[in-house]
Amino acid sequence: MDNEKISDKSKVPLLDVHRSNQPIRDEIVAAMTEVIDSGAFVLGPASVQLESAIAEVCDTKHAVGCGSGSDALLLSLMALDVQAGDEVIVPSFTFFATASAVWRLGAKPVFVDIEPDSFNLDPRLVEAAVTPATKAIIPVHLFGQCADMDPIHDVASQHGMAVIEDAAQAIGARYRDRPAGSLGDVGCFSFYPTKNLGGFGDAGMLTTSNDELAQRLKLLRGHGMHPRYYHEFVGINSRLDSVQAAGLNVKLTYLAEWTRQRQENATHYHQLFQQASLEEVLMVPGHPDFMEHVWNQYSIRILSGQRDALREYLSQQGIGSEIYYPVPLHQQKCFQALGYQEGSLPETERAAQEVLSLPIFPELSKREQTTVVARIGDFFRSQRGTQAA
Ligand SMILES: *Cc1c(COP(=O)(O)O)cnc(C)c1O
Repeated sequence: MDNEKISDKSKVPLLDVHRSNQPIRDEIVAAMTEVIDSGAFVLGPASVQLESAIAEVCDTKHAVGCGSGSDALLLSLMALDVQAGDEVIVPSFTFFATASAVWRLGAKPVFVDIEPDSFNLDPRLVEAAVTPATKAIIPVHLFGQCADMDPIHDVASQHGMAVIEDAAQAIGARYRDRPAGSLGDVGCFSFYPTKNLGGFGDAGMLTTSNDELAQRLKLLRGHGMHPRYYHEFVGINSRLDSVQAAGLNVKLTYLAEWTRQRQENATHYHQLFQQASLEEVLMVPGHPDFMEHVWNQYSIRILSGQRDALREYLSQQGIGSEIYYPVPLHQQKCFQALGYQEGSLPETERAAQEVLSLPIFPELSKREQTTVVARIGDFFRSQRGTQAA
């Protein structure tokens, strides 16, 4: 009985979207109602408003709304004319969409290993992956921290490669004072509900300061159609719904505050972990001063081979966690034909064994964070107990 009560009280979800949405529900409903009453459902005024607001956040000349982050990646590759036989350099430690967009065009994803500290593409390994067929590189700003863009740009410009940022997890992040989305030729964003700016379904955005690319993206998202019913080339149907845009316009006004809360939560975790003296069994995420991390995920490494056991224990205690990502892309069945062997990307494979993402959403309380770290400490103490016995 007592135990039950304690564990019930100490439940901590990985993510609770209601805590963000409920307090501003009336505002969101009003904005969506306006769209319903207007009858402009696809790329209407609400969508145009979101496009200009995101262009401002990202400090780019243009932002082009689309149906999802996955479509943003596909559209950016199409706009850059990536075709069958071309190669595109991508990390393997990322969400599937980064590489599937390349594959869907008949092009070949070329996987490069990550830096162990940032989990992002290791710029020192990019040069060796370049061939005459390399058309582009897609650095991913994983977990809300920018990839090391300066050295990536150096290699890209030497070889005439385009740079596409997969910024799906990194809206508002900064690299040397420049926002994510402005750091390459095109930036790709997702408003999937688990992202830092999460909508009420699927939606995405592309950012660029290149007029010609912006124009191409606008055509491509609407079947390559211009004027109506005349098609110069084949695009896709991936537009930004106005109802989504209306909800996102409201939520965008809170994004800076939510980001600040995520950053505060990260700092608090650092302190709690330091006090818990767990450095022998786990590593907390760090980042260099010249980057602003927006903490879409707070991902620790479990060094003792106990990651899965810890996750199971936390789940029994009512504490949510997730493994982003358990299977590297070069080891996915659908990419078997690319011929990667086990051990070909050692840091990626090690990360997939060690990472565990903890709750970090803006409204997470200090008390909940204390509970999370306390239960992790309990787990390792019980492990030591078993070993000693
Ligand atoms: C979420 C995500 C995407 C895909 O975005 P969707 O809107 O879900 O299609 C792409 N890349 C990364 C790194 C992501 O986290």
